[in-house]
Parts: sequence; C-alpha cells; structure tokens
Amino acid sequence: MGKVALFLSPHLDDVVLSCPAYIQRLVKEGIEVRIVTVFTEADPGSAALYRARRAEDRKAVRELGASATHLGFPDAPYRSPRYRDFCGIVFGRAREYPGTRRLVADKIGELIARWRPLQVVSPLAVGNHVDHRLVRDAALLAVKPEEWLFYEDRPYAFVREQVDHVLGRSMARPERFWRRYFAATYVRNYRGTTSDRRIIKHWAAVPPFPSKIHKAFTVETGPVELARTLAALRAYGTQMPDLFTDEAERETLYGTVAETIYALVGRAIQPADRLSSRSSRLKSGLQAGLPAPKR
Ligand SMILES: [Zn+2]
Repeated sequence: MGKVALFLSPHLDDVVLSCPAYIQRLVKEGIEVRIVTVFTEADPGSAALYRARRAEDRKAVRELGASATHLGFPDAPYRSPRYRDFCGIVFGRAREYPGTRRLVADKIGELIARWRPLQVVSPLAVGNHVDHRLVRDAALLAVKPEEWLFYEDRPYAFVREQVDHVLGRSMARPERFWRRYFAATYVRNYRGTTSDRRIIKHWAAVPPFPSKIHKAFTVETGPVELARTLAALRAYGTQMPDLFTDEAERETLYGTVAETIYALVGRAIQPADRLSSRSSRLKSGLQAGLPAPKR
C-alpha cells in the first residue's frame, strides 16, 4: 500500500470546499488522498437528492485526484427533529449525539486500522454545525493525537472571526463580525425567521475547540490549483447556490485566502504533512501557545 492521507468530511462537499489546494499538493507528491464522508443518506423522501449529491461528490473528488468513500450515516435532520431549524442544527445537541459520535469514531478507527494513513485531517467545526462537531469529536476519540490535523471548515471560515471563536480568542470587532456573518449567503439561506438576537445569544455559549491546537502551516492556491478547485466545486450543482452568490465570489475567495491547517500544540510536523513544495509556507511556532480552552 502506498502512502495514504485520510480526510474526514461531515457532508458531501465539506472537504472539497475546505482544503482543495492542500489535497492537490498531496496528490502531486504521490500521496493517495481518501476523502471519507460521514453523513451521506436521507429519508426516502429525499433519497433522489442524496443520490444526486453522492454522484456530485464522486465527480468533485475525482477532479482533485482523490477517492471518495461514503459512510452512509443519515444527515442531521433525518436523525432528530431537533435539527430541523437553524438554531437546532447550529447550536443543538440532541439525545442521539453521544451514540452517533461513538458509531462514527468506531468506523473511523476501522478505516485507520485498515489504511494506516500518515495523517488524518478533520474539521475544526468552524460554523458549529452539529454534523461538523460530531465528526470533529469522533476524530478526537478515534485518532492518535500525533496524527491529528484539522482544517478550517469553508465557507464558514471565510468570515475569519468565526475561526477566532473556535480557537478561543476574543473578537476584536464584534459589530463587523455580525455584519459579515448575517450577510453570508449560507446564513441568509438557512436561518429562516430566526432573530439576530437569538442567534447572537446562542453563539456566546458555544465552547471553543476542546484541545490546545495551533496553526501548523498554510497552503496558498496557485492558478492551476485554483482552476481545478473551481471545477471541483462546480460539480456540486445542488449545493453551490446555497453557499455562494456565484462563481465570481468563489474565484475571489479561493484565489486570495490561503488554506490553514492546525495541529496539536507540540505535535511534530512531518515533511509529508506540509509537503516539500515551496509555496506551502510553514508557520509553525508563530501562533503556538493559544489560551487554554474555557470549559
Ligand atoms: Zn457540512
């Protein structure tokens, strides 16, 4: 078996949205990238849509030179009625949570035992969606800390203050954050009639990332990678209209914002993590020593 990197995706799009340039670099270095998506099923009423979404995902993943595995867990709204509105899905934690976390962790553990990946790259859960929290928390159970790497969930992380929130840093300019947060396409499309006040109140109670992590390295997107990234994202025809205004917006965001990968404080970054490519800048050490997470 060759060298394998395992990426964990909550939904059928998250990894491709979040680390397309990093994946292309790994593939170029001869590393076999396997993207495992956890929540890939619905109820019979939405079965056709999810079939289409799985096909979209296979196409997008292929575009990046990686391979797709779908674990077949039902998406949040099909596990609990609690997850059928904006606040439920972003801030809620239904009774199913610990049981689902255990099942997902067991499944990830099986794949790690079988594939022996060099690294396991999981979501930070920027945006706080319950399925992203579940995959992150399952990874914390199943993956050895020395193999942990975490990516910033996009599009949520394009509003940078949301990343600060996950890292336990206080917001420098809250008014600016809320203006940008409520203007984001995905918030406008999913919040329904939920009031600003209710959303702001819930955010104040969201705990930061449960372990001490720091920025390990960043990956810049070059012109060739950008073209591939945009083609891969285009494959998600059913999802893109809810997440971005148009392709021009995606081109600007993906062309200008570097991908940031995090690791546990003290974890040694291997050459295979950050790659030999010059455009992948190592920033390790600069951001070490984040404040201890508040519990
Ligand atoms: Zn997602």
